[in-house]
Amino acid sequence: MCSYRRVTNFYVQCGHGVPKPDEEIKCGAKNCIFSPNHPPTCQGRACKEKCFQHHQFPQQYSPHKEGKCPTCA
Ligand SMILES: [Zn+2]
Ligand SMILES: [Zn+2]
Ligand SMILES: [Zn+2]
Repeated sequence: MCSYRRVTNFYVQCGHGVPKPDEEIKCGAKNCIFSPNHPPTCQGRACKEKCFQHHQFPQQYSPHKEGKCPTCA
């Protein structure tokens, strides 16, 4: 099911981490309400019973960047 990716760019030269806005990662499953493939006709109680109603725990992602962060550059 869908989740958020929490991206923090890590700048090697100054050692600062700069958080970016969360990215939503879509899963494409039919039984997840956030998925683009979830049928619009699936609603109400039936949907609550068989479909995922929440995002998965966010993934942490910290790509290392060469150089300094925008504040130090
Ligand atoms: Zn999903
Ligand atoms: Zn549903
Ligand atoms: Zn810095």
